[in-house]
Amino acid sequence: MRKQYAVIGLGRFGSSICKELYQLGHDVLAIDINKERVINIEKYATYAVNADGTDEDALKSLGIRNFEKVIVTIGANIQPSILCTLILKELGVKEVWVKAHDQKHVRILESIGADRIIQPEYEMGIRIAHQLDSSRVIEY
Ligand code: ATP
Repeated sequence: MRKQYAVIGLGRFGSSICKELYQLGHDVLAIDINKERVINIEKYATYAVNADGTDEDALKSLGIRNFEKVIVTIGANIQPSILCTLILKELGVKEVWVKAHDQKHVRILESIGADRIIQPEYEMGIRIAHQLDSSRVIEY
């Protein structure tokens, strides 16, 4: 079933999520404060918009509250990530998934109601360890 997603922050992580969701046949709104990153994603998103994820009026005018899931992948700088998450929850977005930079970021995101907190390096480390472990089993 076709769903509506928005991805805010188009670094390597955000843009790979955006491209994959779009290729899976979903509607994807891609947002970044950096114009060049928006231009680079245009072919791989339903809409690509140059906007600030901490600008409440801009998010409202994009109809962000109608999206089923919004993924915030503003990474290294935690302040805009936190503010963006807070605005999305206040606007009534049901599912807000957020990429966290460190444990302090995780704690703040938990306290403001992020629905899923993603720690890519940590989660990938666990997956890779399991893959290494299962390949060891197969070898014997
Ligand atoms: P990655 O590790 O995923 O490659 P990165 O290191 O290139 O990311 P980050 O600082 O993690 O960059 O930011 C991810 C994206 O978020 C960047 O494309 C950046 O322009 C965008 N971004 C930063 N602040 C905002 C904001 N306020 N609104 C929207 N996008 C933002």
